Amino acid sequence: MNLDPTFLNNLSLVLSAFGGAFILALWVSLVIWVYRDIRNRSRDQLIQILATLLVALLNIPGALVYLVLRPPYTLEDEYQRTLEEEALLATIEDQLLCPGCERRVKDKWMLCPNCQTKLKKNCHECNALMELPWNICPYCGTPELGMRKESVSMDDVLRNLKPEEEPLSENSDNELDE
Ligand SMILES: [Zn+2]
Ligand SMILES: [Zn+2]
Repeated sequence: MNLDPTFLNNLSLVLSAFGGAFILALWVSLVIWVYRDIRNRSRDQLIQILATLLVALLNIPGALVYLVLRPPYTLEDEYQRTLEEEALLATIEDQLLCPGCERRVKDKWMLCPNCQTKLKKNCHECNALMELPWNICPYCGTPELGMRKESVSMDDVLRNLKPEEEPLSENSDNELDE
């Protein structure tokens, strides 16, 4: 059978239309992909525009150049990395050091085994370990021996003033009152 030349014409027209549509779709989707990708990798609007323009103008070669030059980490990766670094720093800072000799000490130790610096004290009521600056036991609520209660008035304080050494910086106040 003879092929109608107009049919051939139409066929090539349809094929080239499909081809053109395909290339256009590829072009547009590459531009969209690069725009999304660069937005995940950089907050700099200039870089976002440049990368999108590069692919919009050069298409596949532009996309190859973009793949070579794009920032290696996404913003999400960077965020995760900072989180990990912060967690690492926190664990390092969490390790307790003896204030006397700077060696590592455990949380539950009362004394530094190396230099015998006092690290913790015991509650005289429930025997729980307390930090040295604490004036009241957080476990049973007993004030430390020799500590004034908060409700004591100024007169009582003056009456009970003894030369005995009081913990913390409140000494200086008492000395001034004398
Ligand atoms: Zn020590
Ligand atoms: Zn206690």
